[in-house]
Amino acid sequence: MTIAIVGAGLGGLTLARVLHVHDIDAVVYEREPSRDARGQGGMLDIHSGQRALREAGLIDQFFAIARGAGQDMRLLEPDGTLLLQEDTPDDAPLDRPEVDRTDLRNLLLDSLPADAVRWGHAFRSADHGVLHFANGRSTTYDLLVGADGANSRIRALLTDAHPVHLGQNVVEAGIPDIDRTHPELAAMVGRGNYWVLGHGISLAAQRNGDGRVRIGISFYNTGEDWFATSGIPFDDPAAARARLIELLAGWDSRFTALIEACDDTIVPRAITTLPVGLTWPSRPDVTLVGDAAHLMPPVGEGANMALLDGAVLGLALAAHPDDVPTAIQEYEREMFERTGAAARVSADLQELLMSPDASRRLLEFFQPS
Ligand SMILES: Cc1cc2nc3c(=O)[nH]c(=O)nc-3n(C[C@H](O)[C@H](O)[C@H](O)COP(=O)(O)OP(=O)(O)OC[C@H]3O[C@@H](n4cnc5c(N)ncnc54)[C@H](O)[C@@H]3O)c2cc1C
Repeated sequence: MTIAIVGAGLGGLTLARVLHVHDIDAVVYEREPSRDARGQGGMLDIHSGQRALREAGLIDQFFAIARGAGQDMRLLEPDGTLLLQEDTPDDAPLDRPEVDRTDLRNLLLDSLPADAVRWGHAFRSADHGVLHFANGRSTTYDLLVGADGANSRIRALLTDAHPVHLGQNVVEAGIPDIDRTHPELAAMVGRGNYWVLGHGISLAAQRNGDGRVRIGISFYNTGEDWFATSGIPFDDPAAARARLIELLAGWDSRFTALIEACDDTIVPRAITTLPVGLTWPSRPDVTLVGDAAHLMPPVGEGANMALLDGAVLGLALAAHPDDVPTAIQEYEREMFERTGAAARVSADLQELLMSPDASRRLLEFFQPS
């Protein structure tokens, strides 16, 4: 059985690792030229996905790189009112620790044989058991797994569904080495998540393992053309910071100080999702894991689901090594149900964040009366 996995993200690598644990070979084809070619982004909140890391035999190594203090949370309103502060005791269980995405990906990569990942292989097409890559190479497969993320190209082999704009546009920025450069802002943000929720705008700041505080300013109920009309000049970071501060008119100066302190990496990100509860008729030779299968709002489920997909598919293949179609059906049945439920919870949370009284509703969510 020749298993080709396209995409060396969390879903594809977990699948490869669980197969490796069960002595089943698979090759991961990744378009990036190397593991360090592109920054992997910030912290991930890993909860249900811990089960996948257990199946992968990596749970102890995971706890060694996870940050319990990352569970700390502060929730504020734009006028500076502190609604909620939760500080994690040192001996608290690691139920939802934060982990640096790069560290988690490296943990998975290091757990695989050196030749399990072929870098510089961007998927171009697949037909009749042959995979073609943009670099001109090709290979055969019995099972093709699309682990190629939000903008998956393999998805089209199974469904016509495609991601649709969610009405949320995020500007990502950050403050490097914050403890040294801006200690007062470091103390304000704290060790974990710092959220300010206003009407139609939120600011989320989060401490990362490398001392950088990543900041996401979300503009809700905005359309696909919002970046073009927002007046934020992304090619001129100083002017972009100034425009962002203008857009936060009336917000407490402590919050705008966070934006003033950001460096020149200011990036737009439009948020898209797949339909909740997406399914497709099973095929005997192709399936999907992770965002390729179920892209959700970024409220803390996607990475966990991608890890679980990889583990569940790996275990199904190990249980039916001579019957791939049955393994795929077993995996998809579990995956559709689990990720459908997670997508519904995520959609509800997203609706809350986009509502006019988001801060009070989120407080109620965390502290039900
Ligand atoms: C800002 C933000 C914060 C988030 N925070 C959280 C969180 O706290 N908790 C959580 O659970 N989830 C979170 N998520 C969601 C999570 O990041 C994703 O759900 C998760 O990374 C999906 O993993 P994946 O393996 O499916 O895809 P990815 O991690 O996107 O990996 C896909 C891989 O496929 C490769 N690829 C793409 N196209 C091709 C091609 N044509 N050929 C070859 N390779 C290709 C890519 O280069 C990439 O390496 C967050 C998302 C965002 C945007």
